[in-house]
Amino acid sequence: MSKAYMNYIAGEWCDSESGKRFDDINPADHGDVVGSFPQGNVQDVDRAVAAAQEAFDDWRLMPALTRGEIMKRVGDILLARKEELARLQTREMGKVLVETRGDVQEGIDTAYFAFGQASRLTGQTIPSELPNKFNMTTRIPLGVVGIITPWNFPLAIPTWKLFPALTSGNTVVFKPASDTPATATLLVEVLLEAGIPPLAINLVHGPGAETGKAIVDHPHIDAISFTGSSAVGKVINATAGGELKRVSLELGGKNAAIIMDDADLDLALEGVLWGAFGTTGQRCTATSRVIVHEQVYDDFLERLIEATKQLRLGSGLDDGVDLGPVINDAARDRIHQYVQTGSQEGGKLVLGGRFAQGDGLDSGSFYEPTIFTDVLPGMTIHDEEIFGPVLAVMKATSFTEAIELLNATDYGLSSSIYTNDVQAAFRAMRDIHTGITYVNGPTIGAEAHMPFGGVKNTGNGHREGGAAAYEFFSEVKTLYVDYSGTLQRAQIDNR
Ligand code: NDP
Repeated sequence: MSKAYMNYIAGEWCDSESGKRFDDINPADHGDVVGSFPQGNVQDVDRAVAAAQEAFDDWRLMPALTRGEIMKRVGDILLARKEELARLQTREMGKVLVETRGDVQEGIDTAYFAFGQASRLTGQTIPSELPNKFNMTTRIPLGVVGIITPWNFPLAIPTWKLFPALTSGNTVVFKPASDTPATATLLVEVLLEAGIPPLAINLVHGPGAETGKAIVDHPHIDAISFTGSSAVGKVINATAGGELKRVSLELGGKNAAIIMDDADLDLALEGVLWGAFGTTGQRCTATSRVIVHEQVYDDFLERLIEATKQLRLGSGLDDGVDLGPVINDAARDRIHQYVQTGSQEGGKLVLGGRFAQGDGLDSGSFYEPTIFTDVLPGMTIHDEEIFGPVLAVMKATSFTEAIELLNATDYGLSSSIYTNDVQAAFRAMRDIHTGITYVNGPTIGAEAHMPFGGVKNTGNGHREGGAAAYEFFSEVKTLYVDYSGTLQRAQIDNR
């Protein structure tokens, strides 16, 4: 029997009013059921929102530094439970242990950052245009925030949202991805153990189209913080935005790395392998296109194919494994469909392109690391996010053409350039149209205290990470104190 997990609503671990449950399956071994979870519905979300509303006043009035001290304890507990959390994550979503340890570390870093940031929830003092009058701004929490997250960073992404939301004085209703509900449940346990008031955090599992939608549509949810696909993000923006809710969207990517003719090719090769095939290509920042200068194209491509052949697939819990499975069979089928379309549209498949089988891989959702050449803008595999281990290698004749190719996408999350030419590096930092650019590093590798987010179809202009996240989770309030004892009219008196 697998473990029966619960929702956490109004201070209690409870089943869903729907009476229905769903299973969380290990993608490396479909016979391994991590647990069963309640399938939340509109009534569960109603109760969760009511509890979060009830908790709001006490929580927002608690001194921010006290809220920050709770975050310090959250970081300490995550640190103590790091290995347990990393192993659970690998079991439920497949990425290799070295990566899930990094995912938990990102949560720890985000907690300790929140501890410090609690004492920096500052406003401004600004001179008044009138005498004997004091002007200032402060930041106030939004109210009840709905948090909806994907499965590829099951701990880190929820922490990016929950920690700044709570530290800023909001209460929350949290719906994690249905593929990674166990890690989310442990995270909520940690928050409660650290001292978050029971009603201030509510966890409702369930399908996005029902539970997630109920959160987005709820009239007493004041803001939505969503990370996931651009398709779902656009729907949320239309519905929640239509109700004038504050909405933060962190969406898909189609990221590219440029390899210039003067680049350190060994370094570039390592970076492209890590960027394209880390997390089995299932990162919003994954390198899905590499644009190589024609002078080094043949050499780089040959080395890339040879190095990719050496990558070992298997369970992320096993030593020596480079690539775990993709998240489930539906994802594997979708990736394979993209590969077939890529070939039909004129891409040249030079490696992979098949389900990975044998050697203990038959009971999981494994896909071979795949490389295409002859890919051009306009082809489906160039334009759409595949979210799997599929890399398109493209050729550029100049720096200018490389930048044009990199920008020839509707997405704009991450990018990188390998070059030793300082002029090329600075021009690239200026002219590449993405939210993040790395010089001589892969497209993946965000640091928790730095702003994170993208342009174009990747988002709606907000940033997560570091201090930037706190701007989303609070409103500016403007305050005037007139101590003149007379009516003073702005723009009229004293002019
Ligand atoms: P989805 O958009 O399918 O799902 C994300 C979350 O939204 C899940 O919790 C899902 O629930 C829920 N959801 C689905 N439909 C709705 C709906 N109609 N209303 C409300 N909630 C809904 O994305 P994936 O989980 O497949 O994640 C992969 C995507 O996330 C990729 O596009 C990737 O690029 C992007 N991503 C972006 C990042 C960024 O910071 N820019 C970081 C990481 C990933 P359920 O699981 O039940 O379906």
